[in-house]
Amino acid sequence: MAEKLKKIECDPKCGFMVQSHDEKELIEIAKEHAKKFHNMTATDEQVKGMMKDA
Ligand SMILES: [Zn+2]
Repeated sequence: MAEKLKKIECDPKCGFMVQSHDEKELIEIAKEHAKKFHNMTATDEQVKGMMKDA
């Protein structure tokens, strides 16, 4: 069963964007990005709220 391609976009000023069919992977990548680049600890729920169909 193929999952839909999802994407997460960061602030336009940042320009970070990640796409994946794997929701868990997306969340992990986005959380790591927020931590490394913005010194922010995002929750899974916050990240899911940013998730869109690609
Ligand atoms: Zn960013």
